[in-house]
Amino acid sequence: MSLRHENRRRLTATDLDVLVVGGGINGASAAAALAARGVGTALAEARDFAGFTSQNSSNLIWGGFKYLESLEGGLVHRLCSGRNRLMRAYPSSVKESRFLATLTEGGGPSRSVLWLGAWIYWCLGGGFTQGPTLLSSTQIRDAEPVVRSVGSLGGVEYSDAVVTTGDARFVFNLIRGAMDNGCIAVNYLEVTDIKRQSGRWLVYLRDNHDGGEFQTRARVLVNAAGPFADQFSQMAGVSTRHHHVLSKGIHLVVDRLTDSGRILAFMTDDRRPFFVVPMGGRSCIGTTDTRVTDPHSQITDEDRNFVLDNANRCLDLPRLLTSRDVIAERCGVRPLAVTKGHDTHRDFLKLSRQHVVETTAERSVVTILGGKLTDCIRVGEEVRDAVLGLGVLDPQRLRPWYGEPDSDVKSRCFSRLSELGDRAPAITAAQRDRFWAWYGERTLELVDQVNDDPASATSIFPNSDIIWAELDLMQRTEMIVSIDDFLRRRTLLAQTTDARDLAVAVENAELDRLFLS
Ligand SMILES: Cc1cc2nc3c(=O)[nH]c(=O)nc-3n(C[C@H](O)[C@H](O)[C@H](O)COP(=O)(O)OP(=O)(O)OC[C@H]3O[C@@H](n4cnc5c(N)ncnc54)[C@H](O)[C@@H]3O)c2cc1C
Repeated sequence: MSLRHENRRRLTATDLDVLVVGGGINGASAAAALAARGVGTALAEARDFAGFTSQNSSNLIWGGFKYLESLEGGLVHRLCSGRNRLMRAYPSSVKESRFLATLTEGGGPSRSVLWLGAWIYWCLGGGFTQGPTLLSSTQIRDAEPVVRSVGSLGGVEYSDAVVTTGDARFVFNLIRGAMDNGCIAVNYLEVTDIKRQSGRWLVYLRDNHDGGEFQTRARVLVNAAGPFADQFSQMAGVSTRHHHVLSKGIHLVVDRLTDSGRILAFMTDDRRPFFVVPMGGRSCIGTTDTRVTDPHSQITDEDRNFVLDNANRCLDLPRLLTSRDVIAERCGVRPLAVTKGHDTHRDFLKLSRQHVVETTAERSVVTILGGKLTDCIRVGEEVRDAVLGLGVLDPQRLRPWYGEPDSDVKSRCFSRLSELGDRAPAITAAQRDRFWAWYGERTLELVDQVNDDPASATSIFPNSDIIWAELDLMQRTEMIVSIDDFLRRRTLLAQTTDARDLAVAVENAELDRLFLS
């Protein structure tokens, strides 16, 4: 029986303490924090894990330099400390990166205000990263020739962090860790209805993969439905003090625009931040910030042109970028937590990126509104405390719930990889690092697989560094249901490979057949 079927069987056969609804970053953190504590926890996700907003972020782990403009020093301080905790906990996948913020003529702060802001930002971040540097336009031209120097007023280089595994794998790894601590997680399992019965929740579930219908019971529900959280609150008969306003953001993935590894930051024409972020050997450019009401948003020509125009305005490229250069697109809606009754039309672009955890004790529901990847540790802790406050049995187990395994495990993994020697001569140092960042302790299973079958150390596609043994590991331990789960979320292949080349490679490797479950 596959892991997914086994988990679905257990989920419907168990009287749960807590059911987390939603497997984006908020649900993943909540489930991981609760499971590590020993609380009987399950997680149901209607799509694939991280299959909605959390696969469409800018992959930045950052304090939000821009939020200083709206004088949100407290939020920036909290986000910076969230960033610092993630950088400490995930040295292999949340990495400090230099951001180059360039000023151009025609608006924006002066260079001295930007410089002062960068120091305040650095101080609010506890001086955890490398300090900022002031750069003239000539220095920027020398360091980053791709930045357009005409009209440049110089800028500032400062530090934040990037999640190098990609957002979706980061979320999945939290869920994988939650499962290792006893959480029963199932993807493609939607909560379709809930009823209060004798002080517990009777939960109706539909398997969106095979259409099966199930029920389970839970004492407490955690609403981590992201952009659907208000809908879920309605279903649960819960009235929260905050609700969501949705903001659409898009990114376009194009060929690599700079080799420096820096994140290039600019201001768009309408004074929103605009980034060029490295992603798996490509560059991801964006984003937009458009108010929408439907969580199921699409990229329009206007969105696409806005991003391309801004890239062409800020960068000095051999030729203008057009939609033909786009390798992949990302589109998501930010669920922004807003106090009900607040007039959001006047100051939409300045709405806070804070998260809120609300408890409705009489209905035994904990609701998460807003949030960011950056703040996920705090969200997990707050949800765990809120759930325990509802009187759920607290086993007081003190296992870590986030972060890479300790250095002993890491040494064991790397020495086992080295011992492979001639059995896997083609495995590079970069691949070893990636195995650790993606699979943590499961790297040992990968080594066993290669030892048993040295041919599994070869690449699945000619231009990919992913090996067959990884595919086997993912199939056994990562609940891949469709090929898209593999190409889009467990790996970055769908975002970094030309669609036609990828289709041919998938066909040649007969991957479709492998993922038919
Ligand atoms: C363009 C963009 C860029 C961003 N960039 C950054 C960034 O660089 N750094 C950062 O920290 N943050 C960033 N964010 C913010 C961050 O990505 C989001 O706040 C976060 O991903 C939202 O996570 P979530 O878990 O609340 O929602 P989601 O990821 O949407 O998860 C909610 C899940 O609930 C599931 N669900 C809903 N209803 C049900 C149901 N009835 N049954 C079962 N499952 C259900 C959905 O399928 C969905 O997967 C960005 C956001 C956007 C849109």
